[in-house]
Amino acid sequence: MKALYYCVRQGGKVSRNYFDMFANRSGGEFFTSAPKGYKPGKIKYIVFVGTVISGLGKGVAMAALARLLKENGFKVSPIKFDGYLNVDAGTLNPFRHGEVFVLDDGTECDMDLGTYERFLDENLSSINYLTAGKLFKKILEKERKGEYLGRDVQFIPHVTGEIKYLLRDLGMKTDADIVMVEVGGTIGDIENSYFIEAIRQMQYEEGMENIMVVALVYIMKPSTLGEQKSKAAQLGIRTLMGMGLRPNIIVCRAEDIIEEKVKQKISIAANVPLKNVIDAHNVKTIYELVLNLKSQNVDEIVLQHFGLKTKKIDLEAWRNFVSKIVNAGKEVTVGMAGKYTQLHDSYASIIEALSHASAKNNCKVRLKWIETTQVEGVEKQLEGVDGLIVPGGFGSRGVEGKIEAVKHAREKKIPFLGLCYGFQMAVIEHARHLLGMKSAHTTEVDPYTEFPVIDLLPEQKRIKDAGGTMRLGGQDVIIEKGTKAYEIYKKEKVRERFRHRYECNPDFVDRLQEKGLIFSGYAPGKRIMQILERTDHPFFLATQFHPEFTSRPLKPSPIFDAFVKACLQARNK
Ligand code: GLN
Repeated sequence: MKALYYCVRQGGKVSRNYFDMFANRSGGEFFTSAPKGYKPGKIKYIVFVGTVISGLGKGVAMAALARLLKENGFKVSPIKFDGYLNVDAGTLNPFRHGEVFVLDDGTECDMDLGTYERFLDENLSSINYLTAGKLFKKILEKERKGEYLGRDVQFIPHVTGEIKYLLRDLGMKTDADIVMVEVGGTIGDIENSYFIEAIRQMQYEEGMENIMVVALVYIMKPSTLGEQKSKAAQLGIRTLMGMGLRPNIIVCRAEDIIEEKVKQKISIAANVPLKNVIDAHNVKTIYELVLNLKSQNVDEIVLQHFGLKTKKIDLEAWRNFVSKIVNAGKEVTVGMAGKYTQLHDSYASIIEALSHASAKNNCKVRLKWIETTQVEGVEKQLEGVDGLIVPGGFGSRGVEGKIEAVKHAREKKIPFLGLCYGFQMAVIEHARHLLGMKSAHTTEVDPYTEFPVIDLLPEQKRIKDAGGTMRLGGQDVIIEKGTKAYEIYKKEKVRERFRHRYECNPDFVDRLQEKGLIFSGYAPGKRIMQILERTDHPFFLATQFHPEFTSRPLKPSPIFDAFVKACLQARNK
């Protein structure tokens, strides 16, 4: 054992065979927490934690810094840890948790992954997302296979060891220079305590020069006092230190610009230089944060810490994009007929996709939430909208109201975009009102309907489990030439992301393509309809997929771009 300790750190440098010595086969208290061939010090780590309150926008702050580091020429790999016991986010209620984001490989994850993809303009995969459920599932499966044979499986070293392993493995698999880790929730939560402990261990194992901790704090400004108070933030920092994490950068969130006095207090409390106390007060658009962090040289602070080269970066395109969002003159109003109208986070990607498209079209989109639980009120609510979106959804609540909204958009020639459930609503509306199938429905809502125009995908009929079993992730879509869809994409094949169990019933496909409706996109070699459009309408298009998931700030989704253009045209009429 003495020999083990001896070779751990020599002269402040981690010895080459340090991680080999951690192999549990040594019979000691160590545990293999690095993949084969791992060289400590090569990959750098930045860990984002939150204190005071959750919902501070850790994901946005991390994504903005990730973008800056990418601009400096480094390969950045983000990962989010969520303390939930759910294995993925697919079984979470968007009303409680916000949108379920879908990656190209079909991973259902937290909406922060969407933020990372948008800021980095990169596709991520399942290794960029970790929940406590996924972590413990892996550990329990290993235990059953006897991979810890003879050992009592413990939080230290096994759980912390697996965490360290996964972070290092992500770095190696993605050939990352910098792994950025967002720890969900706030410091002090029981749910992420062992994760924080793993990071504490990593500080020593990787060496302080190879890891940084960024703490987000909230600076309160009680209305009765009218001045910013830093005590809660200081206490949060103290809790963080009590857990053995020394922050390197403190990002201060607040409504207004952070007062100098507050920054100084935070600097003293956190043992960090004043320049590492960052002002991240509310901005008009989240994309502005990239510019704000740059103006405070956060990328340079990070790269200097790691001993990496900084370079002059060109943010002109980004600056232009932000200024178009902030200074847009024209405004269009888009009605959004969704179920979770109380919680905007449920539709985060749609809202972002609209902002990317509106920046490109020099306008602003104002959302009007359309409550669809009462059919009667729908038409009135749609007065004055320049376009209508019927987004994705599940179950029967509000369905009749959504169908009514589609009918109104069709009849009044209001630009219409249906997304997933919205596509299915458009099929039902068409069947009911134009083809005389009065009781047409989806079997999701009415399993015994006479006209099941929307029905379970054949492969779904055998599935009983709810988690991760839908038709998920990126799939190819063949686009029919000479259609609106082709005009939009200008390609015969595109890749878009899906998340559905039901589809347009193949038995009805021919019958449905009468009286103005055509299917202009479908799955290669299969009879799964993926885009529909109306030939008797200026802009009426719906997709079985979610184009919002692949929209990026400087590369808006072509579908959203076309929809916003149509809304502008409708407004100018
Ligand atoms: N509930 C529908 C289905 O499962 C639509 C899903 C969605 O909108 N994401 O097919």
